[in-house]
Amino acid sequence: MRNGMDYLSRAVDELTERAGPPSDSDLKYAVLHLQAATEVLLKARLVGEHWSLVFKNPGGATLENFKKGKFESCTIEATLDRLHNIAQVEISPSDRAAIKVLSDDRNALTHYGHTANAFQVEARSARVLSFLLQFITEHLRPMLLAEFAKLVAYDPTDSPLVAVEKGLQQPGAVKARRELEQVDQTMDELRMKLGRIQKYVEKRLNDISTELAPCAAHTVQCPECRQWALVVNNDASWKAIKCRFCLATYKGEMAALQYVWSLLGEDNGTVQPCPNCKAADTLVIGASTAAQKTAAMAICFNCAHTPYEEGSDV
Ligand SMILES: [Zn+2]
Ligand SMILES: [Zn+2]
Repeated sequence: MRNGMDYLSRAVDELTERAGPPSDSDLKYAVLHLQAATEVLLKARLVGEHWSLVFKNPGGATLENFKKGKFESCTIEATLDRLHNIAQVEISPSDRAAIKVLSDDRNALTHYGHTANAFQVEARSARVLSFLLQFITEHLRPMLLAEFAKLVAYDPTDSPLVAVEKGLQQPGAVKARRELEQVDQTMDELRMKLGRIQKYVEKRLNDISTELAPCAAHTVQCPECRQWALVVNNDASWKAIKCRFCLATYKGEMAALQYVWSLLGEDNGTVQPCPNCKAADTLVIGASTAAQKTAAMAICFNCAHTPYEEGSDV
């Protein structure tokens, strides 16, 4: 828990320390620390439900091994599943996807020493950061508070001062209160600093907004940075298409495939040959555009043709 808040704090420092955009090495350590923070904090909530849930195999868990830290821990995917299925902590599919992409970034950095470009990494990190802030506020802090209240055996008829004094004589209560204080302190610092990252992302979105406005009907979410900034050609030219936010480029059918794969999932989207430009599987079924963000429509990633336009809103 304490480690998790420390990692989080370091990641935010790495992203905000410089006056300009963070350096490559800042970004690298920010991703490593942010990923570690996410894992520790999600698991802290799971331990609050029951300590055996962080074991890879909870059926073989023993309290002794848990206390010694002698066990194989569950994966981040399993942590998210257990939070949802057992602790009933709702994590949206887009937050889940952001956490997954961050883990992939971390693995790419650790094993291959490279990752996507700086704009992409920064935008993704900002997404996970805002998820964590919300997660800590809604799920972690209330849990710590409940644990503290239980430890001090809070009696509602006591005055707050008496309650605190009584409570602090209980074993474990001092530690629990320190944890709560650390969370509150770190969160205050983070909110201040996070504004600088959000401002940076907002500034960049603002910079490209004039360029994007006329293309809203054929702009989709970018599979890399997930901003609404991937402008599809509307001239059947087969030129590579480019995300205006993170500058990722995609060629021909690859854009359509990667979009379905990363953003829709095979169950929710598919590619087909386009009835207009007819050359390849460039028609994405189940896409949405910046002009219709909640629609599930068909749009060609080569010529921007929308064959079933009418009545396609969901
Ligand atoms: Zn992008
Ligand atoms: Zn087409």
